[in-house]
Amino acid sequence: MKNTKIICTNCGKAFSVDRVYPRCDLCTEPLEVERVRTGTITDGDILRQTILERYADFFPFSEGERTLSLKEGFTPLIESSKLASELGVKSLHFKNESQNPTWSFKDRGTAAGVNHALSLGYERIGTVSSGNMAVSVAAYGARAKLKTVIFVSAHIPPEKLDPIAIYDPLLIRVDGDYGDLYFQSLAIGKDCGIYFINSDVPFRVEGSKTIAFEICEEMNFEPPDIVIVPTSAGGNLRGIIKGFEEFLSCGLIERVPRFVCAQASGCSPIYEAFLKDNEKVSRFQNPDTIAHAIENPFPPSGNEVLRKIKQNRGIFVALGDDEILRAQKRLAEEGIFAQPAGAVPLAALAKLREDRSIDEESTVACIVTGGGLKYTAAFERHNLETAKCRIEDLADFVGDRL
Ligand SMILES: *Cc1c(COP(=O)(O)O)cnc(C)c1O
Ligand SMILES: [Zn+2]
Repeated sequence: MKNTKIICTNCGKAFSVDRVYPRCDLCTEPLEVERVRTGTITDGDILRQTILERYADFFPFSEGERTLSLKEGFTPLIESSKLASELGVKSLHFKNESQNPTWSFKDRGTAAGVNHALSLGYERIGTVSSGNMAVSVAAYGARAKLKTVIFVSAHIPPEKLDPIAIYDPLLIRVDGDYGDLYFQSLAIGKDCGIYFINSDVPFRVEGSKTIAFEICEEMNFEPPDIVIVPTSAGGNLRGIIKGFEEFLSCGLIERVPRFVCAQASGCSPIYEAFLKDNEKVSRFQNPDTIAHAIENPFPPSGNEVLRKIKQNRGIFVALGDDEILRAQKRLAEEGIFAQPAGAVPLAALAKLREDRSIDEESTVACIVTGGGLKYTAAFERHNLETAKCRIEDLADFVGDRL
């Protein structure tokens, strides 16, 4: 590891990067790797580089400590002039994170976390998740030949269990309060020597920085005015903000975008805290949304996201299932099939244009965090049409309908 520290986002206490510290032991708030103030992009061709190599100056790894990769990241930024003109903004881009090894942005943070685990000599990794993070950690654990422990809730349906099980981790359905499991896992990790790469641990946040780095490169170092991020635990949004801020410190860009923290109305603890002008996020009661990937009722980085978005003059917003489903369909009509959580940014933009929180001169990037095939149950919520015809009549049938 390079000579760097891990710092508490709230009280500033410093920790060593050579051990695993998931949270601050003084104030329990999340930690982050010390900010990079000088650095540049490594020369080379992305067909032969990994994200950890290309952005090596922005990671605490030494050479030889970033060996494991499934070629995560380097995802496309897709412009839609159609949706930009429909919604009345200057330009609109979609960062399509479904083109990652396990079809969500989680692979970026998993890659950073697994390489940290390997360089510290860990032989066991784990996570608590019933969704994309579990799939991602299971895949990278398999690839790294590490013993991989995944805790899921006992009620997880088989269509979510099997995509984790296929990588053959130690997959345990835990009967009990799912909220407690996060903290339990950290204690078990300490006792059993398992590196838990949970939702907002420092190296997961580091991985998410590369979303910001790539957007800067893809937009010729003129970042968008607005970046919209579907937010649950808050680690991804923290990473994306940190990425833009580090590029600014290093002189690679001249300004940082405004950020939108977009949640589902059915589970919007950070948005609620903002509305009530609270400094701390409280547990959201009875969460229920189609966007399961952003259904964390008590986000571990919630307080830090509140602080950061306020400092940034950013926006908090919450979207109903109908708005999310409409956005999912609209996005598909542009050729991008997102899971409901990944469509939340487009739903947020529509709402924020309507109430004029975002103006028509804005350039906007939406983070499409995960792919649509992750949650096929959403198909039932759309009126999807097909036609049927006998083969003898097919020529006429098609002709009539063109
Ligand atoms: C994990 C996830 C999110 C939320 O990211 P956080 O870091 O928990 O805020 C959003 N969308 C998808 C598809 C995810 O898998
Ligand atoms: Zn602290």
